[in-house]
Amino acid sequence: KREEVPASVHGIDPGLVDPHAAEVVATLKQAGFDAYIVGGAVRDLLLGLRPKDFDVATNATPEQVKRLFRRAFIIGRRFRIVHVVHGRGREHEVTEVATFRAYLDNAAADQVAGNEKTSRAQLSGMQHAVDASGRVLRDNVWGPQDEDATRRDFTVNAMYYDPVGQIVVDYHKGLRDAKKKTLRMIGDPAARYREDPVRILRAVRFAAKLSPLGFGIEAKTAAPLVQSQALLADVPQSRMFDEMFKLLQTGHAIATIGQLRKLGLARGIYPLLDLTVERAESALVQAALLDTDRRVGQGKSVAPSFLLACVLWEDVRRGWTGRLNQRQHPQPALQEAIDEVFEQRIGEVSGRGKLAADMREIWALQPRFEKRVGNTPFGMLTQPRLRAGFDFLRLRADIGEVSEALAAWWQDFQDADDERRQDLMDQAR
Ligand code: ATP
Ligand code: MG
Repeated sequence: KREEVPASVHGIDPGLVDPHAAEVVATLKQAGFDAYIVGGAVRDLLLGLRPKDFDVATNATPEQVKRLFRRAFIIGRRFRIVHVVHGRGREHEVTEVATFRAYLDNAAADQVAGNEKTSRAQLSGMQHAVDASGRVLRDNVWGPQDEDATRRDFTVNAMYYDPVGQIVVDYHKGLRDAKKKTLRMIGDPAARYREDPVRILRAVRFAAKLSPLGFGIEAKTAAPLVQSQALLADVPQSRMFDEMFKLLQTGHAIATIGQLRKLGLARGIYPLLDLTVERAESALVQAALLDTDRRVGQGKSVAPSFLLACVLWEDVRRGWTGRLNQRQHPQPALQEAIDEVFEQRIGEVSGRGKLAADMREIWALQPRFEKRVGNTPFGMLTQPRLRAGFDFLRLRADIGEVSEALAAWWQDFQDADDERRQDLMDQAR
């Protein structure tokens, strides 16, 4: 049932709404279409949080949207959306505009993907996108707004906000759930996890993000989580890897670890995540997780390679020490230890090459920080990954693995001018 909720009830502060998104909605409405801010932004607005991005949903097709804006681009092959661009250069901002999509249960979706005759007949009258071979694309079957709401995951993620009329449109009691601070899956939770097992991780992510506000997962939504966990085995590794970093690098890493344990998901989601949970209280990993949350909170960037380098450092050190004890030379011993850890712990993931190179450099710089003679420190200044390597050294000093004086010296050395650098070199002798 469609409910329209006025400002006096939902209480959204219009000051938190991104003016660009509001303008996109206004333009679409002036052209006679329905348009709303949708999803996570509406949830955050209702909770008084400033959303990090604003998505717009509309009954206009991507082509119709594109025609209304000067700089708009249709992107994505499987899931076609429009990027409306405001501003130029580094300052530019993008509003994503998606057409309302139909809700297809698995049977209907299989028909769309497979048997074209039936699906064509069944979908007649519905607007839909077709690929080059004329095949209907599952995720591009346009539909009415109520179906667009029903295909979303949690009730609090399925509301629409019209910033012009300041009305919230709610089909699934999302507003009530936001007030009750409950994460509730739309439909039958077990079926929805089967449909897309990544929703298991999304449940954990939102529970962690919203736990400081007092949110919890509704009992019926939480109950099938553990038994559904095995479904994650069918999700492509690259998507699992990306989802893992959404859990760990969006500012709620510590809360995520707590939720995983509380929900009985501490083991079995993904090997590297299991390892992170297992090591969450080891000094370096704990420091890294706290540091990640703090950095994200301050709007600073975080890199997957850095966190993984912390999680796996224990293994690298063990392999390295073992080889040093067998009288191998330090650098080749370290390289071999790193290779071994990669073989054992990191599977085939997208961007593995770059990630691996960054992790290697962070680790390989560590013994070099301890060599403060000759030209070594000056050579370090030209290392592109010096900052990440130093941040890693900084954490090691914080937990007492290397001396505080060493980290402080490197901090000074990086900040100093040439003359002061010579003084520091003399001191280090
Ligand atoms: P965040 O603030 O972390 O970006 P979000 O709610 O905006 O949270 P997104 O991943 O950006 O999450 O997705 C936007 C919206 O799309 C969601 O709010 C939800 O309505 C819908 N959605 C995304 N992924 C799924 C999914 N796997 N199943 C169902 N609906 C989804
Ligand atoms: Mg979002």
